[in-house]
Amino acid sequence: MSQTLVMKFGGTSVGGVRALRQLIGIVRTARETWPRVAVVVSAMSGVTDTLLAGAQRAVAGDEAEPARRAAELRQRHVETLEQLARLNNAAVARAAIEACLQEFQTLCHAVRVLGEASPRALDAIASLGERMSAPLVAAALTEAGVKAAAVDAARVVVTDAAFQAASPDMEATQARAEAAVGPLLETGTVPVITGFVGATPGGAVTTLGRGGSDYSAAILGVALEADEVWIWTDVDGVMTADPRVAQRARTLAELTFREVSELAFYGAKVLHPKAIRPVVERRVTLWVKNTFNPQCPGTRVVPDNGQTPGSIKAVTAFKGQVIITLEGRGMIGIPGIAARTFAAVARTGTSVAMISQASSEQSICFVVPCASAEAVQHALEEEFRHELARRDIDSIASSEETAVVTVVGAGMRHTPGLAGQIFTALGQAGVNVIAIAQGSSECSISLVVLSGEADSAVRAVHTLIVGED
Ligand code: ASP
Ligand code: MG
Repeated sequence: MSQTLVMKFGGTSVGGVRALRQLIGIVRTARETWPRVAVVVSAMSGVTDTLLAGAQRAVAGDEAEPARRAAELRQRHVETLEQLARLNNAAVARAAIEACLQEFQTLCHAVRVLGEASPRALDAIASLGERMSAPLVAAALTEAGVKAAAVDAARVVVTDAAFQAASPDMEATQARAEAAVGPLLETGTVPVITGFVGATPGGAVTTLGRGGSDYSAAILGVALEADEVWIWTDVDGVMTADPRVAQRARTLAELTFREVSELAFYGAKVLHPKAIRPVVERRVTLWVKNTFNPQCPGTRVVPDNGQTPGSIKAVTAFKGQVIITLEGRGMIGIPGIAARTFAAVARTGTSVAMISQASSEQSICFVVPCASAEAVQHALEEEFRHELARRDIDSIASSEETAVVTVVGAGMRHTPGLAGQIFTALGQAGVNVIAIAQGSSECSISLVVLSGEADSAVRAVHTLIVGED
């Protein structure tokens, strides 16, 4: 029997009065069928950015900016609150919001005086968005007759001390969840838990990384032994392509964990793989749904079953990349060039989205974000100073701006003819493919095209999914 449901609402889903009215309806409906419902919330859309921007200004010595930002945040939260809750309900949330804004200004003062903000300080500051939205949502639910209570995840989600990208200690978290959240669920109260936030065993506030409230939902889904986790966002689930690019993009009814990971890695606006793995591994059913269109069933993420027949499911483009190419006849057969190349890249702290090496060994090329291109090029010139002088390596070059177009579908590589169809479609659309890689897993093929041709490439591949217009 269905027992426990965890629902996470993202930034736009708690972003204003209209969204919160939707949220109330969704929670109320869920309570009709689920005896235990827990809610995880993001900060209101844009709030985390505002908090961090205020902190950065403070570090730079600006005394007035944090107060301005606090006033802006106060106005947004309080105006929303006033339209959704009154009297005592509103007063409780108002006090919590006020305390957060005080803390924000105190922390900004501290980093201004120090002239620097440690990752730990930034986490304390970034966590305040969720610590304001959770009381707000709890008040709105209570006012609407749904018993609810705000829960600060710093008391529940136990993490290591890797500030800004903390990892949970699942065992400790489960014990805390049972103690702090269990009793609320048992008495029919909806806990409204801050996403994104955790704390070390010693109580220092941490965050799980930007966009981390999906991860919170997964952690809490596992810790509360939920039957299902529903991620509420502002689109109808995971789509075949970006609907702004491909007009006929549609929602995918079902997608495997790997397919979703692949899409997320290549920049599609979907769940973070780190966030999904825990729930999918425990076979907790995961759904992505649209707060603003709750009738639409959304996308169900299923475990990899290895049997999905090969077909193209989705296509995405990841812009703002450049190709770095190392070229030279002297590279042929010399061991260690690739290892040295990527060690040098790694020293710049750059992550490589895609690699391809010609079998002739006369060149290695890989894709990095535009912003890192210069640093990477310098690091390579330094690393291969001797080889360049001896002309074993002729050149190290960066391309103009490109995009990685990734085509996703389980079992794709085992299906003869699929790659051919993709290249034919691209050829017919006049798109020039600069490099190809088999993707980082079984279920994707990635190609590099010029940024300006990325949209045409997506549309061309998309016709293979939905058919010609
Ligand atoms: N509020 C956090 C962020 O903006 C976490 C989230 O929304 O998932 O990164
Ligand atoms: Mg998010």
